[in-house]
Amino acid sequence: MSLRIALAGNPNSGKTTVFNLLTGATQYVGNWPGVTVEKKEGALKNRPDVLLEDLPGIYSLSPYSPEEIVSRDYLLSSAPNMILNIVDASNLERNLYLTTQLAELGLPMLVALNMSDVVHKRGDAIDVAKLSQLLKLPVVEISALHDEGVREAVEQAIHLAENGEWSEPPCVFSGSLEHALAHIEDMLHHIFEDEKHGEDHHHVHRHHSRDGGLAVDIPEQQLRWYALRLFERDPHVCRQMALDEPTQARVEMLISAAEQAEDEDAEALLIRERYDYVERLTAACLVHSGKRKSAELLDRLLVNRWAALPIFALVMFAVYYVSISGLGGLLSDWATDTLFGALIPNAVSSWLAALQVSDWLIALIVDGIIAGVGAVLGFLPQLAILFLCLALLEDCGYMARIAFILDRIFRRFGLSGKSFIPMLIATGCAVPGIMASRTIENDKDRRMTVITASFMPCGAKLPLIGLIAGALFGGSALIAASAYVIGASSVLVSGLMLKKTRRFACSATPFIMELPDYHLPNLRNVLLQAWDRCKAFIKKAGTIILLASMLIWLLSNFNWRLQMSPADASMLASLGNLLAPLFAPLGWGSWQAAVATIAGLTAKEAIVGTMGVLYGVELVSETGMEMWSNFAAAFTPLGAYSFLLFNLLCVPCFAAVGAIRREMDSARWTLTALGYQACFAYGVSLCVYQLGRFLGGHGFNFGSAAAMLIVAIFLYLLLRKQRYQCEFAAACNPQGCAK
Ligand code: GDP
Repeated sequence: MSLRIALAGNPNSGKTTVFNLLTGATQYVGNWPGVTVEKKEGALKNRPDVLLEDLPGIYSLSPYSPEEIVSRDYLLSSAPNMILNIVDASNLERNLYLTTQLAELGLPMLVALNMSDVVHKRGDAIDVAKLSQLLKLPVVEISALHDEGVREAVEQAIHLAENGEWSEPPCVFSGSLEHALAHIEDMLHHIFEDEKHGEDHHHVHRHHSRDGGLAVDIPEQQLRWYALRLFERDPHVCRQMALDEPTQARVEMLISAAEQAEDEDAEALLIRERYDYVERLTAACLVHSGKRKSAELLDRLLVNRWAALPIFALVMFAVYYVSISGLGGLLSDWATDTLFGALIPNAVSSWLAALQVSDWLIALIVDGIIAGVGAVLGFLPQLAILFLCLALLEDCGYMARIAFILDRIFRRFGLSGKSFIPMLIATGCAVPGIMASRTIENDKDRRMTVITASFMPCGAKLPLIGLIAGALFGGSALIAASAYVIGASSVLVSGLMLKKTRRFACSATPFIMELPDYHLPNLRNVLLQAWDRCKAFIKKAGTIILLASMLIWLLSNFNWRLQMSPADASMLASLGNLLAPLFAPLGWGSWQAAVATIAGLTAKEAIVGTMGVLYGVELVSETGMEMWSNFAAAFTPLGAYSFLLFNLLCVPCFAAVGAIRREMDSARWTLTALGYQACFAYGVSLCVYQLGRFLGGHGFNFGSAAAMLIVAIFLYLLLRKQRYQCEFAAACNPQGCAK
């Protein structure tokens, strides 16, 4: 009889290396039926009767990706004699997640801790005996790269396969969950007729579906696997098992009880407890060297469930303090007021006047280009310092921890754990952020991420944040930090609201990431990264902002008869005046603000550029100080804050809209996204302005009433009951779900 051994493990755990070592040249490479996932198999070099089958690299057995589905179907239906689980021991915690799932399949299994050379080199050690005891599985250490222990491991695997003994699954879940699972398992035991399956000595539970046909064969050792799938309302398994309605109702009752007890939905509950188990397992079996110990202590603080967020908030506040109020603020003030406000324009205008250039051209260059581009470039020092701080945080390993913390929060808000990477990237620029959402397999999660990613304040919005904070709030770092808080909250609030609508109702995809080691930042890397971002900013100032500033200047200095005219009678003013009433309820109904908002669609820096052209010009005095005081006089602080919020949250720049269109691949979804963003921004700004006015003692009026109504609508959308379940639940739930 020939034996089949399945190689399973995370991507990059070393499966290919093991496979090549054991099979040599006898490999066959093809595709799994129906999908483009590669399938490799080969006979062992010295045992042609043993076939090694290499499964695709996967992180879990949840049906989220083709690789996961292929592996899961194969292990369940083709029942190999043995699973050889290759674990990257240098990333033990991440890898053991899959191990616990594989162990539930009811197949004989051997865990091979690969890369043990890396573990030893770090000075760490793994207590193999303890791990084996806790997992209830045989565990061995190997190093595929150095060909150490691999052959012994496969010998042991063959031995186990020949005996065909399957082991008990490890105790992964907590008491109340195990209780519910045991009940479901028990129910499966009872409702299925016990049958001897031919010559085979395995017990097979065969369940007859309601129409009398055979629904599914379940070997006894797989009952737990099926109970777990029922518990997480797995749609495939629910359909496959076709339980009768009373049984479905009983299962649903058990699930709901557990969900209520733990205040978490069933699937998330299983995922969380599995994480917790793997964390405990790793802590019990991995013995760290001293250096790793201090890193672990640090992690205990920085990634702590309670302390992590306040620490993160403090760190970010410090970063904004240094870049917006502190050194960055000082340098930017100098650049705006002195360099671009006096030195350069004065020098250029006298030089151009000496060359006898006509007045209007001087005005275009000085009041249009220099004022517009200068207004934007004036914020470069603030940006440079911010980029530098962020690069430092990233290089020393803290950013990955932030990602980890945010991931945990995102999942709680029903957003895919994978969304936070696009969000993190979007704080640099929304375009790559939106593109990064491609890694999310679930359509609903991906669309939601595309819609909300641009709420994060990108680098281009920073000049606007700096302008409002500087001109109206005395350079307050709080205003700057609040922009990030509002951006991130908007993502979360939208996540909650959208998840309750039919189009987005579905549970979030789990995501597993590893935390990199801490290390001292490499100065060269940090500088390079900060410089790269600054370069992009400068390039934009020299291209899009330059053109936009020229256009704004021309439109604001000529009337429709193409004669020079005061700004208030210009083409731009008449266009802006058309739109201004729309924004008046938000507290900034001037034509200049309306025009700047529209200009911001070309690039968000253009808002500041436009303001520079429209407000900065007349102020370039002899001393050049206080370039933005005209701007400050045109707004109330509350109105300015509302202006900031609207421009942070509303439709992003054209480049990002293009990215949304590409990722959505549908005009309707693109319009939905843009419409949602515009409405959300309008609603938030209106509420902030009108309620702020009311609370500031300016009396109750129609605007305050409208704002209260909007708040009520937001609250309703947030707090209403989840009416739509994802189709996963619907397949299991006898009551079905509202289609
Ligand atoms: P797969 O994605 O699981 O097939 O992983 P690969 O076999 O391609 O291995 C991923 C990387 O890990 C390759 O660069 C291997 O050379 C390396 N690798 C595999 N096994 C070991 C090992 O035992 N020790 C070390 N240091 N590296 C290994």
